[in-house]
Amino acid sequence: MSRQTEFVLRSMEERNIRFVRLWFADVLGSLKSVAIPPTEVEGAFAEGVGFDGSAVEGYTRVFESDMVAHPDPSSFQVLPWRQGTGTARMFCDIKNPDGTPSFADPRHVLKRTLDKASEMGFTFYCHPEIEFYLLREAHRPGTVPEPLDHGGYFDHTTLGAGTDFRRDSISMLEQMGISVEFSHHEAGPGQHEIDLRYADALTMADNIMTFRVVIREVAALRGINATFMPKPFGEHPGSGMHTHVSLFEGDTNAFYDAADETHLSKIGKQFVAGLLHHAPGITAVTNQWVNSYRRLSGGGEAPNYICWGRNNRSALVRVPLYKPDKAASARIELRSIDSAANPYLSYALILAAGLDGIEHEMELPEEASDDVWGLSARERAAMGIKPLPTSLDAAIRCMEESELVAETLGEHVYDYFLRNKRAEYDEFRSNVTQFELDRYLPNL
Ligand code: GLN
Ligand code: MG
Ligand code: MG
Ligand code: MG
Repeated sequence: MSRQTEFVLRSMEERNIRFVRLWFADVLGSLKSVAIPPTEVEGAFAEGVGFDGSAVEGYTRVFESDMVAHPDPSSFQVLPWRQGTGTARMFCDIKNPDGTPSFADPRHVLKRTLDKASEMGFTFYCHPEIEFYLLREAHRPGTVPEPLDHGGYFDHTTLGAGTDFRRDSISMLEQMGISVEFSHHEAGPGQHEIDLRYADALTMADNIMTFRVVIREVAALRGINATFMPKPFGEHPGSGMHTHVSLFEGDTNAFYDAADETHLSKIGKQFVAGLLHHAPGITAVTNQWVNSYRRLSGGGEAPNYICWGRNNRSALVRVPLYKPDKAASARIELRSIDSAANPYLSYALILAAGLDGIEHEMELPEEASDDVWGLSARERAAMGIKPLPTSLDAAIRCMEESELVAETLGEHVYDYFLRNKRAEYDEFRSNVTQFELDRYLPNL
């Protein structure tokens, strides 16, 4: 028995744990959970826990549906909102009955990509800024949601509801070993942001899954509603999940070069070049819902052109100017990804795109220093600045053409994802909206 599994067994006893939830993600990034009693945990470490994969989005076809969840002892944490009942959780790796990794497991897709980075000598670090809206109550179909407060960017809302909410969620996150760097009110009414302190990409993807649960639990405890929907209000900014990323070689930040005017090394520039090159292909995953494209085309500082800049918040990739002389903090920020993305698949694709830029020594295009939204289409074309896909439909088409995405996700996830998203788009398209009825019916 490993030290980690011993630690879990001991902690369960010391902390009087009565239920252990085994967590994993489906292909779209929804959290799945199965609870086992402590007596089953030793067996789960040894053999895993079987479940019917055909019932989980993207896992298997019905005739090969047996799947096995193997808990990762390093992810053992007690759930602070279940204090009375002693409940803990562990993330799982999903395997086939013969012990090989399930091709449908998003965590495996990320691990496989991280292995590739590590073969090239790199560790991949991420830190997300997660935005979300707090609403007065659970959504009732047919109604317009009502934000919890009327604050704006960085406002200290005296009403206190949002501030208390952030304090409670942050203390729960910290109890679960997730450190928070900043939190503040965002620009929209009821919109908040919490930024997590950087960690390796796998830990961070797990942390994001936990974050979403914590935010929803705290909201439920307070009788309100929290949503990560990318654009719940047409007239207010959407909820992005800007992600800052860097590659380290041992203890050295491979993105840093003191001598360069951007402070970005050659590796850093090639990484950004790869990210820009593959941006159209990966967008269906970083922005995976019909609604994601309302955020991207809706202003509110969400990017919709493929370019990079320093201190340029309209750019898809921003090279932050803060602390430019501190080597360890050198990083780049991808601004397209939204708060409702599957973090495992998204981080795998961001990394794969960047590594491809390094492998092919891609050239970084010229910096977009102007506000790209203020340029005319002709000026943008002259500068070689292309738009991001403007709808899920367009993003699916770009993904269909991307070999990098097919290779990184693997055939199974790639095909499943495309089929699922095509169906979502077709269903959306078959709906006649209130806008169309109000605009056209009286006049046409
Ligand atoms: N909410 C904006 C977005 O959707 C970001 C605003 C900000 O953090 N400056 O990307
Ligand atoms: Mg921020
Ligand atoms: Mg923000
Ligand atoms: Mg940001």
